[in-house]
Amino acid sequence: MADRLPLMAGNWKMNLNHVEATGVVQKLAWTLQDKRYDPTKAEVAVIVPYTDLRTVQTLVEGDKLPISYGAQDVSVHVSGAYTGEISVDMLAKLKCKYVVLGHSERRQYHGETDIIVNRKAQRVFRAGMVPIICVGEEWESRRKEGHIPFVLEQLRWCLTDLEDEWMRKLVIAYEPVWAIGSGQVASPEDAQDMCLAIRSYVATHFTQEIADQLRVLYGGSVKANNIRDIMAQPDVDGALVGGASLDPEEFAKIVLFYQEA
Ligand code: PEP
Repeated sequence: MADRLPLMAGNWKMNLNHVEATGVVQKLAWTLQDKRYDPTKAEVAVIVPYTDLRTVQTLVEGDKLPISYGAQDVSVHVSGAYTGEISVDMLAKLKCKYVVLGHSERRQYHGETDIIVNRKAQRVFRAGMVPIICVGEEWESRRKEGHIPFVLEQLRWCLTDLEDEWMRKLVIAYEPVWAIGSGQVASPEDAQDMCLAIRSYVATHFTQEIADQLRVLYGGSVKANNIRDIMAQPDVDGALVGGASLDPEEFAKIVLFYQEA
């Protein structure tokens, strides 16, 4: 089995302007350094609004911070007359490592479909970045115990025609919609069941070797006080963290899940 480096990615959503971003990234970096963060134990990333990217890039490069960063979405188009859109080349120029795709808020408010996610994922890979593809079921689907087939169907479309080389780098985030921002976290066993189902799907439809390398994150009301139990699950390789990532001290505790309490 491949060694998978856990990834703790903080999704700031539409919070923190570029001035506030400076303070939060600096505080996160100081806290991690102070608590002897070891980058071989977990990778930390901030997924920030477009307007914060240049600021975060300058801080990370200038101070050589051990923090990855990325964007929350990208255009499906390459360039041209698409007012308000941001292209993969623009994000790559800002040295983004990650681009989140298919977040449930994009699906709910902006009509993002699995097919659009797939087209964006291909563009992101071709531009040299790594997509974090979000999947997850609504409460109704879980209540009826249809959640695993639902998520695997999302994956079927999202992963169409992705090349093996890309799949080795891909990150998938399992985010049950009912757990996002609700304070109602999935049980560690539920997170494990879905992350295992996702890995098994990838083993079947790509290769076992790719499945072993794939990082599958859990997202949905992750906090410092529940991350250890979630990370104790063998198929959970990190977390996509919303609200708790806005507080650098809380987020640092999540990143440092591997340390003694
Ligand atoms: C998210 O936005 O991806 C998320 C998981 O949010 P929260 O941690 O606030 O539930």
